[in-house]
Amino acid sequence: MAQLSNDCFAFGGELMSLDDALALIRERLAPVTSSETIPLVEADGRILALDLKAPVALPPFANSAVDGYAVRHGDLAEAADTTLPVRGRIAAGAQAGASSGEAVAIRIFTGAPMPEGFDTVFMQEDVVAQGESVVLPPGLKPGANARPAGEDIDRGEMALLAGHRLTPRDLALLGALGQAEVSVRQPLRVAVFSTGDELVAPGEPLGPAKLYDANRFMLIALLARLSCRVTDLGILPDRRETVTQALRDAAGAHDLIITSGGVSTGEEDHVKAAVEAGGSLTFWRIAIKPGRPVALGLVEGTPFIGLPGNPAAVYVTFVNVARAIVARLSGETLAPPTRYPARSSFTYRKKEGRREYVRAKLAINESGVLTVAKYEREGAGVITSLTGTDGLVELPEAVTRVAVGDVLSFIPYAALE
Ligand code: AMP
Ligand code: MG
Repeated sequence: MAQLSNDCFAFGGELMSLDDALALIRERLAPVTSSETIPLVEADGRILALDLKAPVALPPFANSAVDGYAVRHGDLAEAADTTLPVRGRIAAGAQAGASSGEAVAIRIFTGAPMPEGFDTVFMQEDVVAQGESVVLPPGLKPGANARPAGEDIDRGEMALLAGHRLTPRDLALLGALGQAEVSVRQPLRVAVFSTGDELVAPGEPLGPAKLYDANRFMLIALLARLSCRVTDLGILPDRRETVTQALRDAAGAHDLIITSGGVSTGEEDHVKAAVEAGGSLTFWRIAIKPGRPVALGLVEGTPFIGLPGNPAAVYVTFVNVARAIVARLSGETLAPPTRYPARSSFTYRKKEGRREYVRAKLAINESGVLTVAKYEREGAGVITSLTGTDGLVELPEAVTRVAVGDVLSFIPYAALE
């Protein structure tokens, strides 16, 4: 397992740009997970541990893309119908027999191997069968409706790279390449806590001045989607000794600890004090909104991420910062999400020098143009701003105002989760 140095999160500057934060994560952290071999059917969402070059060509042999008649293109008249006798029949899974040199058509079905020397297939809908012969119209290009061997991927070509998170589509490729098992990274073991004396677990009675826990469920679900092995460690009270002990207990059996709340600089922010007591703690003041400082540290050598308390800030800091740390520790190569252009249907003012993530809803206006509307209530504690929207509009550092009609960058939640 990779050892992290005590100062791996150290940062000299005041305010850090998100890009600098992501660069530091890449530089200072290393994957901690080893690999394991699992059945292909269980591999969705897992991170590929080794590059995979195609051990076979795809398709492995030239075959017909349609049901119809295979011919040699050279046997066809250029500008008139061609009538050819039909000789033989090849179904999918059957082997094509050797053919004589005569000008003939061969009945063939989708997926069946092309007979030697035959290069073109007429769709059965396009021809007229006449007894033992078939009438073929002119105009079909050589090679039409035939799939050459290796058209999809050639033997030895790179199919998938180590560090890639497997999707259902990748499983199709791995299956087609004959991989019954796949070498993947072991799941990252992550401990999740909520913190705060005001928090109550759903299902319990809600006393005065109490609030049901929201963050833990969001974080556990976000991590589970990243194929982490998550331990739900419940709610911690605002008591330094309890928090210190709980963090220490979690450190041994986990690769990462994530908490929410309790890391501001107030007197009641006991997570901060607890991590400082048991390890090292640094605040990254990343120039994004929402997202107060994100606390990063080590608890007995295990990386620790202290997210803010307010749920919308938890979401934005998780998908921007914690997500990158999880990826790095798990050995995943993370590509930045695609930003989709959409026209603003709102006006807005913002501070220069920080990147803002506005929770927004998509629509299509009368002209068929994709638009984004900002959620009305923008507080970092407003959970319905997450549930009532489709994604985040990213306003770059230099922007100070948004006018109706401006083209903005939209990132769907689907691309962040
Ligand atoms: P804190 O950073 O602990 O001061 O928390 C900031 C705000 O987020 C406070 O209003 C907390 O009540 C709220 N908060 C903290 N943790 C949670 C949670 N797990 N679920 C819902 N709200 C929370
Ligand atoms: Mg708190």
